[in-house]
Amino acid sequence: MIDIKINDELSINDENFMVIAGPCAVESEDQVIDIAKNLKKIGVNVLRGGAYKPRTCPDSFQGLGEEGLKLLVKAREETGMSIITEVMDTETLPLVEEYSDIIQIGSRNSQNFSLLKAVSKYNKPVLLKRGFGNTINELIGSSKYLSMNGNNKIILVERGIRTFETTTRFTLDVSAVPVLHEKTEYPVIIDPSHPAGVNRYVEPLAMAGAAAGSDGLIIEVHNNPGNALSDSAQQLSIPQFKNLYDKIKMITNMNNKNLV
Ligand code: PEP
Ligand code: MN
Repeated sequence: MIDIKINDELSINDENFMVIAGPCAVESEDQVIDIAKNLKKIGVNVLRGGAYKPRTCPDSFQGLGEEGLKLLVKAREETGMSIITEVMDTETLPLVEEYSDIIQIGSRNSQNFSLLKAVSKYNKPVLLKRGFGNTINELIGSSKYLSMNGNNKIILVERGIRTFETTTRFTLDVSAVPVLHEKTEYPVIIDPSHPAGVNRYVEPLAMAGAAAGSDGLIIEVHNNPGNALSDSAQQLSIPQFKNLYDKIKMITNMNNKNLV
């Protein structure tokens, strides 16, 4: 597996299982700093948070934009965590690249080939989510756009696909973990939050992903999930996340991986 260095002390590779956590969206300074401090205390080293949000309807909260990026940087300064945020378009890519340690490409943009080509020009770690209507081979195709200029710092994410099932928001395809490990050299991580859609399903999906041999998790955590401006139902509270983190430790110990 490719060893991807996130910062001087942090890598995702064969030995390390990386947990990324944080709110769906950056909402305010108090919100993101409070969440970051609590997560850091638990042991998390990478903070997620959307500044540009791909919402189904235009009247929903769209994110704080550049202000959100600045608040993430503030959280990094205060906690030492690395930060990851989603890029939605080529227009805002230079800004996102400047502020963020890892560039996230969301499910809806997984086959936005002009965006992928633009991101490929930077030599920065990229987290590429599987499109919810894409096959595993299509995800691999997208990863080839990202690596076309020599950047191989790519983390692949299974975050659920659309099936006939409606009791969950998406159907987590756990098979993607062994299949992608067989077909690529990239770390594969699971997002249990978006397929779950509700917080009570997040833990079993996260545990399944870790047990299946994923190289990490990306989980939505909020300090006040009930009042979150996006994905309210699926975000874990900080105590819920702490409880899950302790269980993940048991799986990573069993698999002889360092939890980073
Ligand atoms: C997110 O991570 O908040 C997000 C929008 O995820 P996805 O692209 O997987 O829907
Ligand atoms: Mn979300």
